[in-house]
Amino acid sequence: MTELRREPVTRMWVVVTTDHPRGPADYLPFKPPYQPQKAVGPCPFCPGNEGMTPEETLSVPGEGGKWSVRVIPNKFPFFHIEGEFDRRPEGMYDLMEAIGAHEIVVEAPEHEQNFAVMEHRQIERVLLAYRERLIDLEKDRRFQQFLILKNYPGVFLRHPHSHLMAMPVIPKRIDEEIWGTLDYYERKERCIFCDIIKEEMGEKRRVIMETVHFLVFSPFASRYPFEAWIIPKSHSPDFHRIREEEMEDLSIALQSLSSRFYKLLSDPPYSYAFHTSPIQSRFHRAEYHWHIEARLRIGLREGFEWGTGFFVNPTPPERAAAYLREVG
Ligand SMILES: [Zn+2]
Ligand SMILES: [Zn+2]
Ligand SMILES: [Zn+2]
Repeated sequence: MTELRREPVTRMWVVVTTDHPRGPADYLPFKPPYQPQKAVGPCPFCPGNEGMTPEETLSVPGEGGKWSVRVIPNKFPFFHIEGEFDRRPEGMYDLMEAIGAHEIVVEAPEHEQNFAVMEHRQIERVLLAYRERLIDLEKDRRFQQFLILKNYPGVFLRHPHSHLMAMPVIPKRIDEEIWGTLDYYERKERCIFCDIIKEEMGEKRRVIMETVHFLVFSPFASRYPFEAWIIPKSHSPDFHRIREEEMEDLSIALQSLSSRFYKLLSDPPYSYAFHTSPIQSRFHRAEYHWHIEARLRIGLREGFEWGTGFFVNPTPPERAAAYLREVG
């Protein structure tokens, strides 16, 4: 059987196949063949090669006076910090300078590292670096939206790192989530994400794990096999306002989910995206509820999605959650 499931926030329909559902073994070996790239020349993120990168915007000290996390401007950014902020028409089209910040967070001094095997304390240092940089970037009134993105392994460089961006516009996916959040709030006077948390904690079938402050679950209308969300249990629109006591808990949740992916699918490629409210009082939405979306870069059917706007997921989220729960 095939089900059409509707994602409650964005109202996007997802095709979930429940007949012959695919389990972890069906994705091995990964297609396209997953191969770690060989380093070409010295790695600019390794200790000793700091001179190869622009000057850091933040360095988190580790043991023996050495750095444990380092934040640097991206040499090849999508967004540039300098420039005129003007929006202008080109015929019927809108165009603007890609003003923004695009920084790289080097997550550890070791070249071969992975959230799956990292100490959760080190992940906590990475989270602290994100928070500190975002608090600083928030002062720039030109920016509307933050996005933190992590690809494992990195596309060009294997050394573990993530991308931290401040953008002059709100990306479509966030915009759709905000629209859905406000619409739901208008009708029910409740946060849709808080309702999802309540529903999932009661239902339990899609829960992967939980900590005191965070829930990790497979969303009802998962677009991708083994898609997972990490969400704070108490309502908050902004990741960078995360409370001290939530910080360690989040590092534990991230470590645990990465380690489950690692064990279940033998070190698969994955991505994490942090979704947080737009910034500046004009765009900020207190009704929004920040969260992290995680997906594995396996079993893609981009062609179908590209052509129709429908995602097809051959691994029902209830099964995905059960696999991820048991492997923990
Ligand atoms: Zn390196
Ligand atoms: Zn909420
Ligand atoms: Zn989201």
